[in-house]
Amino acid sequence: MSPPFRREERLGPSEVFKRLVQIASQQETTKFCPHCNQHVRAVRPGTSRLRQLVLTILTLGLWGIGWIVDAFRRPGWRCSVCDRQVG
Ligand SMILES: [Zn+2]
Repeated sequence: MSPPFRREERLGPSEVFKRLVQIASQQETTKFCPHCNQHVRAVRPGTSRLRQLVLTILTLGLWGIGWIVDAFRRPGWRCSVCDRQVG
């Protein structure tokens, strides 16, 4: 008899971590789209905060300046229906 949790053992900690990063990088929320005139699913492009944070620490805060600039330039939430920017 094989233990029932054997399949889960194959999923190593690094694979679990990769999945968590993937989920965290793609953000979703519900916003009102004036173009569609309804509440729609809004998505934000993947920004790995963890990677940015690691780079900020490695460059002793220098990367943080670029991170802020990048955050301002990056388009915010987009409507998943018409692909226009929503509030
Ligand atoms: Zn829309």
